[in-house]
Amino acid sequence: MKITFYGTRGSIPVPEKGSLHVGGNTSSTLIEFESGEIAILDAGTGIRKIGHDLMLRSKPLPEEILIGLSHTHWDHIQGFPFFSPAYNPKQKLTVAICRQDYDTGDLESVFRTQMQSDFFPLPLEKMGAEISFWQPHITRYRTTSKIKIEAIKHNHPGNAYTYRIEEKDSVLVYCTDIEHGDSIDERIVELSKDADLLIHDAQYTPDELENKKGWGHSSWEQAVEVAMRANVKKLALFHHDPDHDDKFLINLEWGCQNLFPSSFLAREGMEILI
Ligand SMILES: [Zn+2]
Ligand SMILES: [Zn+2]
Repeated sequence: MKITFYGTRGSIPVPEKGSLHVGGNTSSTLIEFESGEIAILDAGTGIRKIGHDLMLRSKPLPEEILIGLSHTHWDHIQGFPFFSPAYNPKQKLTVAICRQDYDTGDLESVFRTQMQSDFFPLPLEKMGAEISFWQPHITRYRTTSKIKIEAIKHNHPGNAYTYRIEEKDSVLVYCTDIEHGDSIDERIVELSKDADLLIHDAQYTPDELENKKGWGHSSWEQAVEVAMRANVKKLALFHHDPDHDDKFLINLEWGCQNLFPSSFLAREGMEILI
């Protein structure tokens, strides 16, 4: 499984000089499976470049691409109207999010709304690709090529989902936009058990977290705690605060590596093979 980060910033893009080393685009990560299938986690502004890079490939894209969402806050969906494969009539896209306990609103209407004429020049149905929206009530799923996906609903305003994705012996856990509360959510530790790579929200410092209760995020210290307790091989610190510049984040990375040497900042353009 190959994971490439295209957007690792939280909340809002920061295309600023002091932020470009880590990257300014909001959440979007490309997963390429050994089976040849492609999935994208979240459709923040980073998905624009995923689209361009996919279109430049010489070998044809899989008939269908899955876009799995942690939730539908705008920093996780706002890149979708700029995803070029969505304008290709030959391409099938499935946009998916879990709908445990029927708590999530209608996914298609969220995407339609962000492309209403008040916000965007072209409506969803004019994009061209065959786009379907899927909100499974199940939390465990296995594709035909035996890729296993397991989801857990976690605490975030409006709720969000953590995903554990397995292909053969490779395990990726994607856990962003999570507020653990007074103690670490044990279910996340359990779901992350022995993962090759854990991508975890690390938006705040422990001090900032004190003043940001209710905003739905974690501190880097909590990300490290989950990684250590779950015995993961690597930890990617993700969903960087827009007000943390490169210098600040690199210092934060050193602090994390003191506690957990296999941790690092998820940086735009970084590729990881697991
Ligand atoms: Zn977010
Ligand atoms: Zn959010």
